[in-house]
Amino acid sequence: MKVDLHMHTKERSGCAVHSAEDMIQAARDAGLDGMVISDHDRLVARGELMRLRERYAPFRLFTGIEVSTVEGEHVLVLGLPDQRLESKAWSYARLHAFVRAAGAFLILAHPYRFQDLVIDVEGLPPDAVELRSGNIRDELRPRIRALIERIGCATVYCSDAHHVDRVGYGFIELDKPVVTDQELLEVLKAGAFHLPPASD
Ligand SMILES: [Zn+2]
Ligand SMILES: [Zn+2]
Repeated sequence: MKVDLHMHTKERSGCAVHSAEDMIQAARDAGLDGMVISDHDRLVARGELMRLRERYAPFRLFTGIEVSTVEGEHVLVLGLPDQRLESKAWSYARLHAFVRAAGAFLILAHPYRFQDLVIDVEGLPPDAVELRSGNIRDELRPRIRALIERIGCATVYCSDAHHVDRVGYGFIELDKPVVTDQELLEVLKAGAFHLPPASD
């Protein structure tokens, strides 16, 4: 089951070009089975997510958000539909504790994109780090790979698509099909997924 854990829609991300429905359509065309709409500091409202889930089933939609921490890092939080995540006041340490307490999943998005890391990812490791996405320059990959080895977390590929043309650029393949957020969390936490072959 192919899932993109990181993409944006124009309804909630000012920098995104296409609607959720367009992005879902593009994901289905690209052969994906599910995705996380992870807009900047905005969750998809519960009713809207339910509507999209019903309309596009069996395509799967999961809960997610890309939180901008006060230190300037972007962190994906999956499986936690809590509006407090939208506050834009999260330090990485507080966010990490909050996500851990809730049993959700935390991914460091595109490290080194904006700056050297100023957050304590070694003391507070994320569950996974993006090694490949539309916002990761090729030359950063060796550095990110070294970071992942150092902290010993999982690696994910995502699209970070802001445009339908980018959908399908990065995804992971789950070892078994999932339907609910909870099932996705269980598979991710168990590491029961693999990465598609990449050209690099
Ligand atoms: Zn980002
Ligand atoms: Zn993003």
